[in-house]
Amino acid sequence: MNKPDFARFYPHDDLTQILNDYIVAYPDIASLEVIGKSHEGRDIHALTITNTKTGDPLDKPAFYVDGNIHGSEVTASTTALYWAWTLLSGHGSDDQVTRLADECTFYIIPVVSPDGVERALKEGGFVRSGTRMYPHEEPKDGLHPEDIDGNGLILQMRIQDDGGGWKISDKDPRLLVQRRFNDTEGPFYRVYSEGLIQNFNGVEVKEAPRKQGLDFNRNFPANWEPQVKQGGSGEYPFSEPETRALAEFITSHPNIHSFHSLHTGMESIIRPPAVQTDKDMPREDLNRVREIGKLGVDLTGYVLFSYRKLNDDIYVAHGDFATWIYEQLGLLVFCCELWDVRARGGKNYVELNEMNRERDLDGLEEVEAAALKWNDEELGGEAFTDWHPFDHPQLGPVEIGGWNRLYRNNAPPKLLGETCEKMSRFFLAHAEAYPRLRAEIHEIEQIGDNVYTISVAIRNDGYLPTNVTQQAVKMKQAQPVTAAIELSDGDTLLVGDPKQELGNIAGYGGRKKAEWTVRFTGEPSGTITVSSQRAGTTRLSIQ
Ligand SMILES: [Zn+2]
Repeated sequence: MNKPDFARFYPHDDLTQILNDYIVAYPDIASLEVIGKSHEGRDIHALTITNTKTGDPLDKPAFYVDGNIHGSEVTASTTALYWAWTLLSGHGSDDQVTRLADECTFYIIPVVSPDGVERALKEGGFVRSGTRMYPHEEPKDGLHPEDIDGNGLILQMRIQDDGGGWKISDKDPRLLVQRRFNDTEGPFYRVYSEGLIQNFNGVEVKEAPRKQGLDFNRNFPANWEPQVKQGGSGEYPFSEPETRALAEFITSHPNIHSFHSLHTGMESIIRPPAVQTDKDMPREDLNRVREIGKLGVDLTGYVLFSYRKLNDDIYVAHGDFATWIYEQLGLLVFCCELWDVRARGGKNYVELNEMNRERDLDGLEEVEAAALKWNDEELGGEAFTDWHPFDHPQLGPVEIGGWNRLYRNNAPPKLLGETCEKMSRFFLAHAEAYPRLRAEIHEIEQIGDNVYTISVAIRNDGYLPTNVTQQAVKMKQAQPVTAAIELSDGDTLLVGDPKQELGNIAGYGGRKKAEWTVRFTGEPSGTITVSSQRAGTTRLSIQ
């Protein structure tokens, strides 16, 4: 098939079409399944990529990528589609991709919230995750975002007001900045989201709670808190069909060692731990997430920090996906945040957050002015709609304008391919860390009449240990590597358990030996299966 267009975003039907094109074009390495239905009944797809001629997908260590657990963050699903394309088109032509897809399995769930993506792309508004009415079944009184001037975008409204908290920036007349505490020199403005006010009392304009206030990335069981403490968390962990579909998929694919969850709104790579501190976290796990994360920084230019730092310094996230994956399941996880227009001003997310926290309003104004300048120069001004007068049915004369939110938090189409490409390079690099379980017959030694001792040497040639993390050991999530012997009828096992538990095998050079003594009726024969949940399964024949 021809390379799909990665300079665009994909609504549900178009995305489904591409996924189906993939499996038709690459039947030996790609398969597609529906892992659940969204609230509105759309399919949630999982793509499995591996060379099925070299083994069953579940018998190989696996690497997982998902996108669009947040609806409006549509850069994520295009990136996931690109990643799939990198693997599919590279298998058979690119040595690294060929080896990886022969030895490993790749699971890709491009869109966790198809309803959210559909709403964001078709109606131009902001959707955090899903579209179920939450936490209130009926919309509450107040201002609800809506496109009222019919330009297809939900922007901002400003109203000139001596008591307003905003004013026009000296650096750019389109930019509104916060009014300083000692500023008496107007004009000043009140600023709201573009929209209409339910039950307007003629005076007060307050933003109504979001109608669709669910955040699927707060609906996981680790460190979960109810709505009163964590907005968007749902009635209970896994209350949503979308998060339940993920949980069922992940728990029924215990071969996955590493996860990436794709987002936008920052340009960063967020690593474990979330609840623990770096100091409490097992040292070897910290080293691994730092090493892998640092390579991600080199390849993407994003900034690396921990969920714990996010929780301490930026915002608290209870019940998120990554906390469940690392702290409860003991698997590696990174949350990659792919785009933030403010990064065009030359500040990374940690610096921006520091400026926010320190109330560096001058610095933030410069960042916003730089973003506008970038939009003018690179996008021909497309992402920002200049302020224009509008007669609001409730508020009277207002001006409407501002950033197209889709492009503030998503790579513009012409830069989307570049974003996808650098992420795919990071995925390829991280995918190399897989535990590489190797097993071979070490010795078949005759010690008596038809009695033989058979030993097997088992190695882990990969970077990750077979337990993946020490956290998995701590949480009793790491199953031991096993070696099992199967004999023909009539042959008798004299010494050794038929299935031996060998514990975990360290990465880069870890070795174990398994041994059995058998009386054979004829020549030695049979099968030995060496198996590790996360490192794969190897079968040897005794001969
Ligand atoms: Zn997000």
